[in-house]
Amino acid sequence: MTDATDTGLRWNNRFAALGPAFSTTLRPTPLPAPYWVGTSPPAAALLGLDRGGWFGSDASLQALTGNLPIAGSHPLASVYSGHQFGVWAGQLGDGRAILLGETAGGWEVQLKGAGRTPYSRMGDGRAVLRSSIREFLASEAVAGLGIPTTRALCVTGSDAPVYREEAETAAVVTRVAQSFIRFGHFEHFAARDDLASLRTLADYVVDRYYPDCRATPRYGGNAYAALLEAVGLRTAGLLAQWQAVGFCHGVMNTDNMSILGLTIDYGPFQFMDAFNPRHICNHSDTQGRYAFNQQPQVAYWNLLCLAQALLPLIGDEEHAKAALGTYPDAFGSAFDARMRDKLGLPDAAAADRPLIESTLRLLAQGAVDYTIFWRRLADFAAGGELAAVRDLHPDRDAFDAWFDTQYRPRTGGQPDAARIRAANPRYVLRNHLGEVAIRRAREKDFSEVETLRRLLASPYEDHPGFEDRAGFPPDWATSIEISCSS
Ligand code: AMP
Ligand code: MG
Repeated sequence: MTDATDTGLRWNNRFAALGPAFSTTLRPTPLPAPYWVGTSPPAAALLGLDRGGWFGSDASLQALTGNLPIAGSHPLASVYSGHQFGVWAGQLGDGRAILLGETAGGWEVQLKGAGRTPYSRMGDGRAVLRSSIREFLASEAVAGLGIPTTRALCVTGSDAPVYREEAETAAVVTRVAQSFIRFGHFEHFAARDDLASLRTLADYVVDRYYPDCRATPRYGGNAYAALLEAVGLRTAGLLAQWQAVGFCHGVMNTDNMSILGLTIDYGPFQFMDAFNPRHICNHSDTQGRYAFNQQPQVAYWNLLCLAQALLPLIGDEEHAKAALGTYPDAFGSAFDARMRDKLGLPDAAAADRPLIESTLRLLAQGAVDYTIFWRRLADFAAGGELAAVRDLHPDRDAFDAWFDTQYRPRTGGQPDAARIRAANPRYVLRNHLGEVAIRRAREKDFSEVETLRRLLASPYEDHPGFEDRAGFPPDWATSIEISCSS
């Protein structure tokens, strides 16, 4: 390899310092002739990079594809385990993601698709262009919505073949997060009865990300029980946001659950088009374990796995149960608060729950487009025609009954327009939008990747000239099949 490239970043690498029980030091495997597919200026700004400097140079293209070492970084693959589709899967680990290190600003930088690691199992360590574009755009879109997520600095491509159902080409996403630690990292050491490593990991997470847990007055002052509660509360907030915006993750295995409550590992995810609470976005999920309306419950089940893993440190089962027990109410009140914002309700009232439920029932009955309904409601609140909202419903009588007997009485005919607008995006990354960007990118036209990235970075704003990206999905959208293959 050539000399290391100097990014101008200073590196800290605290995860690497935990030692060899947690990771394997290794280098990315190079890819031939890389090219830029997309870059995110807002993600770059987090790191203090801008495209005029090192970022955007040929050295950065090579380094972020894994072809050139970065001065001061400490590349590694971490080990974790997990439950997949409800079944203990044993050891997994970063099979294709390589953590370059942590910047002095506390951001970890990871290359996804950068080659084989000791945890690749039967995999090739690569990621294909289509799934990398989806992850890149989704990361920045979810951030744009104000939902906690890992970020994406850029995606680079190479014409090197990668074989899935058919031959495709390789890509690398540079992901950025304060931590990529998953529930599965804890499950890994608990399953091996490696209590020393389990404690090291928990202490690292508490000290770095949840320092308040040290001073908890509850759980007999037990910091690990406080950690469980804090992770549960963040997860509850995350799930409330997913459900409110109509986001389906698709693979909520415990190894895809962030200890920081971030949306992580974008695979077969989907922003719903027509509202269907039982929607299954992952073509491989034949049982519907990860159907849209199952997500809050699955998150709770995953927290139970985390609790089980932390139990040797917590020591007292009652503390663990109590910590875990805060999740359902936290989810419920966070979800209601989000839905109140979406409906533009001025304050909390006891009768809001039935209103929220009847609204969702109405949307489900009519298979109404989830994003367009809410945004038209915002337009109506701002003085627009009610007919635009009403016409979305195949059963006009049902809509009228909902509007006249429930919504209008509650809002006094005066819903808070600014509030509704700020809670209901005009733009979400629908499957067909990503698909169009992917098809063009395969022809080496990356302009739609950038157009979508830009629109989705401010999804609550109107973008004149780009109304078509906020329209109904075309008929062919329902035939898009997204599976775990990535
Ligand atoms: P996922 O369901 O995509 O989050 O992946 C589950 C596990 O499989 C993780 O440990 C990944 O690192 C690993 N994995 C997925 N795809 C590949 C691949 N192409 N090569 C190596 N490991 C992979
Ligand atoms: Mg994963």
